[in-house]
Amino acid sequence: MKVTWDQNTCSHAGKCVQGSPSVFKVEDGKFVIDETGAPEEEIRNTVSQCPSGALTIED
Ligand code: SF4
Repeated sequence: MKVTWDQNTCSHAGKCVQGSPSVFKVEDGKFVIDETGAPEEEIRNTVSQCPSGALTIED
């Protein structure tokens, strides 16, 4: 499972960082996604909460 992020679409609502902080993180000022940081089910749930549609799951 891979999650991609579209920087231009992101509205910086922060839902992903709040929902799965071990997956969606800001490191050294850069947004990173660690798909190993939480169970797939949780990641799918968090992605579904993104209000802008900036996150896409690729299986
Ligand atoms: S939840 Fe979506 S819109 Fe909000 S910061 Fe994350 S990717 Fe961006």
